[in-house]
Amino acid sequence: MAQVVLNNVKKIYDNGFEAVKGVSFTVPDGGFCVLVGPSGCGKSTLLRMVAGLERISSGDVHIGERRVNEIEPMDRDIAMVFQNYALYPHMSVYDNMAYGLRNRKTAEGEIGKRVKEAARILELSDDMLKRKPRQLSGGQRQRVAMGRAIVRQPAAFLFDEPLSNLDAKLRVQMRGEIKQLQQRLGTTSIYVTHDQLEAMTLADVLVVLNGGAIEQIGAPLEIYRKP
Ligand code: ADP
Ligand code: ADP
Repeated sequence: MAQVVLNNVKKIYDNGFEAVKGVSFTVPDGGFCVLVGPSGCGKSTLLRMVAGLERISSGDVHIGERRVNEIEPMDRDIAMVFQNYALYPHMSVYDNMAYGLRNRKTAEGEIGKRVKEAARILELSDDMLKRKPRQLSGGQRQRVAMGRAIVRQPAAFLFDEPLSNLDAKLRVQMRGEIKQLQQRLGTTSIYVTHDQLEAMTLADVLVVLNGGAIEQIGAPLEIYRKP
């Protein structure tokens, strides 16, 4: 676990467009930060800069003690959960969950232990671990994507609209599961959504973005009580 600090972070795309205009905030150790705002406000750009998937034009990102600006995504000690799950279709669920650990040369015994523990937490049966992603429902696939993040035991989770491909009922259920998971693991998280209810339910720290800048920041009730 670690705090995540953004200090005056900017993104200017190659075409000159300033998508993120000097954003600063801190997610405390174990905190759950939600970035919310309308489409195009810069949520995804901001998250991708923390992940290392997008170059930071200026400013600093710290994860724990480390300034990560020039550190490769794989070495940043974060795990990301994507909207489209980004699972490997030809691999079993088990191998999908093990993939990131194998890349980092974790011992197979340790991998097995972590995958089984994650599967237990996420209620993925042994039978499901043997299947291919296409043989699972949308909600189960999303659990696998979360499992893949959990087994890494990273300093922080980054979620990019993880529930937007699910139907309304499942979205509510999975929202609850993510909240429980957070309470159980206590891993520092940054979560991007355009859904205000999702943001309200999940956030300790809510960051409302508009036009690439912070419009409001605080606890959800502080923000939504204001007229
Ligand atoms: P959000 O995730 O809030 O929908 P994005 O971070 O995807 O917003 O995009 C923020 C703004 O930056 C949008 O206006 C988008 O069109 C623009 N943008 C995103 N990627 C690029 C890019 N590669 N080049 C230029 N502009 C981009
Ligand atoms: P999302 O809102 O989920 O981030 P988008 O459909 O906005 O997805 O963007 C998909 C891809 O297109 C991203 O890689 C983004 O960086 C890029 N992109 C978005 N807007 C622009 C833009 N105005 N110019 C160039 N690339 C863009």
